[in-house]
Amino acid sequence: MDEFGLINKIQQLENVNHSSTKVGIGDDAAVFTPTIGKDIVTCVDTLTEGVHFTRETMKPSDIGYKALAVNISDIAAMGAIPVYYLVTIAVPKEWTDDEILDIYEGMQQLARNENVQLIGGDSVTSQKGLYLSVTVIGEVDSGKARLRSHAEVGDVVFVTGDLGGSAAGLHQLLEGENVEEHWKAAHQKPAMHTALAYEIARLPWRIALNDISDGLASESWELAESSHVQIELLEEKIPLSAGLVERFGQQKAIEMALTGGEDFQLLGTVARDNWQPLQTIAKEIGERVTKIGTVIHKGEGVFMTSQDQTTLLSRDGYKHG
Ligand code: ADP
Ligand code: MG
Repeated sequence: MDEFGLINKIQQLENVNHSSTKVGIGDDAAVFTPTIGKDIVTCVDTLTEGVHFTRETMKPSDIGYKALAVNISDIAAMGAIPVYYLVTIAVPKEWTDDEILDIYEGMQQLARNENVQLIGGDSVTSQKGLYLSVTVIGEVDSGKARLRSHAEVGDVVFVTGDLGGSAAGLHQLLEGENVEEHWKAAHQKPAMHTALAYEIARLPWRIALNDISDGLASESWELAESSHVQIELLEEKIPLSAGLVERFGQQKAIEMALTGGEDFQLLGTVARDNWQPLQTIAKEIGERVTKIGTVIHKGEGVFMTSQDQTTLLSRDGYKHG
């Protein structure tokens, strides 16, 4: 299919249509009216074949879903709401037109759920490997973006959902094992936390947020560094995906949570007085938040306590005993 054929087909897919859009797909550039009183929040993330996915572990619609999901997760981690997205796709000759459209169908499926409108993109050929880059544009009340730098001493450190499922799914897919459905889903179609982000955006409190794309250890370090604080995590409190310990053993299960990444849960900190109300709010929208630690001091660092032994946790999840 030539570029025009592709753009035509993309335009025929069911798309969200925001009233703030003046010009969508079809002109040289898109035009939209920003909402008064909001800040624009934007990010881009790219998936490349062989590095971020393979045809063996992800079908085309999953690749599309995930390319948009990783960006929506970043927007949610700012306490913002995603509104628009743009896609750059570089296609090698090994990929069929139907597969490319399946990628778009996967993106659009998530886009419809999250009410995000496709407003443009770029289509080019690739010598080797498929390349898929998605840009998302979102909005947050002016000055209310939830930054990594917002953590303060005494805060509760919390995480949504559970961890390690994506790593377990990838492991089983790569080993050709029988894959548990919930792990496969965690890897291929991670759930988004925009509903919680939306609730958090409306709260008057200070909250630090980050999404877990590279594992709990590295994301905790990002919070600690940005906020100039030391964080203590409690190993026994880390919520592990169901069946993870039984299948892989305690040590490997924790390792998957710390370093596996791609769980796309939200990691955050909130003042101790606001922890109980946050749990209630999360529960009302069907989200589970778990206290996994505390911001203990000023400084910089992440520590892990396990059976009363506290050790420095390195970014790559290694415990320095
Ligand atoms: P130009 O040559 O002016 O850059 P294009 O022919 O590349 O324009 O694109 C025409 C329209 O189609 C633009 O609105 C562009 O945003 C949209 N578009 C092009 N490629 C894609 C794509 N892969 N996904 C979504 N929209 C696209
Ligand atoms: Mg042009």
